[in-house]
Amino acid sequence: MIKRVTGTQDFLDITLLNFIIEQTKKYLKLHHFSEIIVPILEPTELFKRSLGVETDVVKKEMYLISGDENICLRPEATASTARAFVENGIQTTPWKVFTWGPMFRHERPQKGRYRQFHQVSIEVIGTNAIAQDAEVIALLDGLFSKMLAFDSYALLINFLGCHEDREAFKVELRKFLETHINEICDQCKVRKDTNIMRVFDCKNEKDKELYATQAPKIIQHLCSVCSTEWQELQELLELLSISFHVQPTLVRGLDYYQKTVFEFVSGNLGAQNAFCGGGRYHQLVKIVGAREDQPSVGAAIGVERLLLMLEAIKDRLPLPQPPAIQAIIPVEPAQKPIAMLVAQELIKHGIAAQTMIESDSLKSMMRQANRIGAQHAIIIGPEELAKKEARVKNMTTGEEQSLKQTELVQFLMK
Ligand SMILES: [Zn+2]
Ligand SMILES: [Zn+2]
Repeated sequence: MIKRVTGTQDFLDITLLNFIIEQTKKYLKLHHFSEIIVPILEPTELFKRSLGVETDVVKKEMYLISGDENICLRPEATASTARAFVENGIQTTPWKVFTWGPMFRHERPQKGRYRQFHQVSIEVIGTNAIAQDAEVIALLDGLFSKMLAFDSYALLINFLGCHEDREAFKVELRKFLETHINEICDQCKVRKDTNIMRVFDCKNEKDKELYATQAPKIIQHLCSVCSTEWQELQELLELLSISFHVQPTLVRGLDYYQKTVFEFVSGNLGAQNAFCGGGRYHQLVKIVGAREDQPSVGAAIGVERLLLMLEAIKDRLPLPQPPAIQAIIPVEPAQKPIAMLVAQELIKHGIAAQTMIESDSLKSMMRQANRIGAQHAIIIGPEELAKKEARVKNMTTGEEQSLKQTELVQFLMK
């Protein structure tokens, strides 16, 4: 047997997935976001430049195309969206767009984490207003609480300041790490010299405790402009009745974030507890090739994680019901053509129908009709064929009646 690739999955019932995507699209369009589609194949260079060569994603998790390492399967869609903005010469800003689809990362698969996974990626390109960050966060909060009826999650936010703030902060942080060099793990010792902010992503409990309680906090090292913006962001969220927790160690894994960063987390997801993350990014548009930078804000929602969370509350969700199905049963092979014509006629009028053509015995066809959950069995034998009629059996009540074939549509539409 040929098995599927590790870390991928087959979706055999996509009712819940479609519900998530449809609700998300509807809500984003209400906020005047347009849907775009960007390629799954992108130049590897795009992610090297945007995410940074030191990130785990670029160093270890990229799927490079065999025979052409300059092309890869996208690991995320923000850089692609920025590329699309530049390459298509978009002039009107803010450019409010979203896209959704599969992303690829060669990670160790675990609960809620796949190598081929799906994300909804939301971007506002070309906005300096911190109020826009508050609006994106409020939009996501509304999507999760109202559109997806999800009530057990928390919003974590932090403010990383501008480039200058971070450079000054890194000096402070390095001093701190050097005085605690014997307490931190080996990986953090390396991070200290290569990608110092990443120490906050350390999974080691002892390190996490040390950073949470004693490390300097970037929100205490903001310049006056950033400090005002940080205040404004918190005030706006309070005004919009969004509850949040400030998490000073939240830095997010990617290089391009500035100022606002946030994560929505759920206790129901185990170690991989974030199901949505995002923030403000500057320089990305310039990095991918524009002459001028466009400050931006965006977020990505992990669809598989949402699926895990919503599976538990599925019964409360207004999931669409599949349409009632009618089973058309030709009693003998000679009635198959008319049965198929009747089915066609019903389908033409928007009534779901299936002709039972796999068997020659009435009994087994009735069993099949039952198995597919048919609302009615529409039986056509030699007598019905001659009289242009059909016997209609209600599969729930067992009631039977004869109808003209021309009356079927009207009867079933009732
Ligand atoms: Zn600043
Ligand atoms: Zn560590």
